[in-house]
Parts: sequence; C-alpha cells; structure tokens
Amino acid sequence: MFRIGHGYDVHKLVEGRRLILGGVDIPHTVGLLGHSDADVLVHAIMDSMLGALALGDIGKHFPDTDEKYKGADSMKLLERVTEICMENGYVIGNIDATVIAQAPKLVPHIESMRKNIADVCGCDVSQVSIKATTEEKLGFTGEKLGISAHSVCIMKKI
Ligand code: ZN
Repeated sequence: MFRIGHGYDVHKLVEGRRLILGGVDIPHTVGLLGHSDADVLVHAIMDSMLGALALGDIGKHFPDTDEKYKGADSMKLLERVTEICMENGYVIGNIDATVIAQAPKLVPHIESMRKNIADVCGCDVSQVSIKATTEEKLGFTGEKLGISAHSVCIMKKI
C-alpha cells in the first residue's frame, strides 16, 4: 500500500549561474553548477520518489551524458518522474524535504517552492513540506561552497 523513499543531492555554488530551488529563480550572487538547471531540491525529491519504488535514481533516468538534459528544467523532469510513478501504480502520499544552505535566506521562497512542486506532482500543497536550515557555518554548506538537500517521501498505491 505504502512505500518510503529517501533522496540526497549536492551541487556546487559558482559565479555566473542562476540559483533555482524548487522551481523558484532566487536572486543571489552565485548559483548552482550542474548539467541541468541544478535544482538540488527537486533532484533530491525525484530521487526519493524513484527510491520509494526501487526504480533507481535520476542519473539512471536522465543521464548527464545525454545532451538532451543539458540546461534541463528540473520541474519538467519532476513531471516525468511523477508520470513514471503513476505508470508503476503510485502517487505521492507526502514529501518532507530539507534544503541546507548558509545563504541566501530561503524562508521568503518556501511557499512558492511548495506550490510549484505540488502543481507539477498533481497533489495538494499540504502534501509537500519544505524546510530550510544552515549548518552553522560548518562544512561545505557552511562555507557557502555548495547547497545540499534531503528528501523523504511516502508513495501511495493508486
Ligand atoms: Zn542534482
């Protein structure tokens, strides 16, 4: 009836890139580096959904060696992952995700991220929890070298 999954992702912060988290383009001095738009939050969420159904990870479904996914909009990939889950007979029960970033302040953008993700996944905003935290200036997130994200989700049989 229910399956649980976990996802984790990290991207490096560099100059000259946009910072996109949960489909929200956040004004900042640096952005995340990656083959796609490097939306680390959406990547962790997709991996938790695929993980719940033991369907591998986004690297398997959208290989970064494939030119097709260069600069890809991660929200489009999330739409596809939602379809893959439905093809396998499952929809989202709920998602709980955490973004770990020293800067910028993410609180003003959390509601937009939740709405974007709920819209694409075809579920209610109440099923999508997104939290933001820092690691108290410790480690690579604390030193602003990168941003990481964790996600757990419950997938429910249709
Ligand atoms: Zn990623």
